[in-house]
Amino acid sequence: MNSYKDNLRKITPYVPGEQSKEKDIVKINANENPYPPSPKATAVLKDFNTESLRFYPNANATMLKKALAKYYGVGVENVFVGNGSDDVLALAFQSFFCSDKPIAYPDITYSFYPVWCDLFNIPYTTYPLDENFRINLEDYKAQNGGVVIPNPNAPTSLGEGEEFVRKLAEYNADSVVIIDEAYVDFGGYSSVQLTTEYPNLLVTGTFSKSRSLAGLRIGFAIGSSELISVLEAVKNSYNSYTVDSLSIAMGIASIEDDEYFKTTTGKVIATRTRVTDEMRALGFEVLDSQTNFILATHDGYSMKELFEYLKTKKVFIRYFSLPRIEKYVRITIGTDGEMDRFLAEVKNFLEGR
Ligand SMILES: *Cc1c(COP(=O)(O)O)cnc(C)c1O
Repeated sequence: MNSYKDNLRKITPYVPGEQSKEKDIVKINANENPYPPSPKATAVLKDFNTESLRFYPNANATMLKKALAKYYGVGVENVFVGNGSDDVLALAFQSFFCSDKPIAYPDITYSFYPVWCDLFNIPYTTYPLDENFRINLEDYKAQNGGVVIPNPNAPTSLGEGEEFVRKLAEYNADSVVIIDEAYVDFGGYSSVQLTTEYPNLLVTGTFSKSRSLAGLRIGFAIGSSELISVLEAVKNSYNSYTVDSLSIAMGIASIEDDEYFKTTTGKVIATRTRVTDEMRALGFEVLDSQTNFILATHDGYSMKELFEYLKTKKVFIRYFSLPRIEKYVRITIGTDGEMDRFLAEVKNFLEGR
């Protein structure tokens, strides 16, 4: 018997970190920024003329693109914006990964990539990170239909430099290479400038982490005008208005407040250094993070148990029960106060075992 059920899409979605709204919790599980957005962005919200919401936003979000182009020293035609970088990445997968050959990415990486591949029927191959969780560049010399790599990588927190990205773009001159720079503002190397040299290189970024605007949903991509115009065409084939008027206005204010941006990212980096040192002193192995989170493990203790213990103390971190990283926990860097509470509970856990 035929049934409408036969025609329903069967798919396993990406699972984001838990979003608990409980009071008095330490929420360091979703790589959100512990500081509020720029006061200049908040001022835009307070003064926003809601009457203007009658109108559709500018379909190209031109003013936001201009602000980003100025900030990164590229042309407006080299900038694309979308509803969070997940939206931009999903569009980029559909726009650039149209080959029969599999796309390539590391075995341990952002877990949204396989989900998009399944959704859009894109074949893929993964290359294992080495025993130190580093990417083996030579793997990406093989023929492929495209490459996507977060730099710094997630959830390893490790970053690569200019030579790496140059070689990656050169080895793969016949396909599009996407560098996902969601965490780059916390001390990583940004390859935005390389997009002027490599027409097959696309760099994506987000306002969700370093700009404390995860709730607003703003992401962007920078690349050759050729790549950007394909993204525009695909976007305009499903939804012309992915960035709303309020996001455009607040996004511009955030970009223009560079002083606040530098202060808050600097604070996260300083807290990261302190927490890394303190955890190492407690016997943890902590990878050298270039992001707003750390990946840590401790010999002789179950990290799953640590994760569950902390949950009972209302401290929420992230645990992945996946091969190779099941011995680790991922901890987002919060305020100093939040991290003190985290560290105190970690000590209680170690002492209680
Ligand atoms: C958080 C994250 C994104 C997406 O962030 P948006 O909130 O959708 O902009 C993309 N890539 C990586 C690796 C991330 O960690």
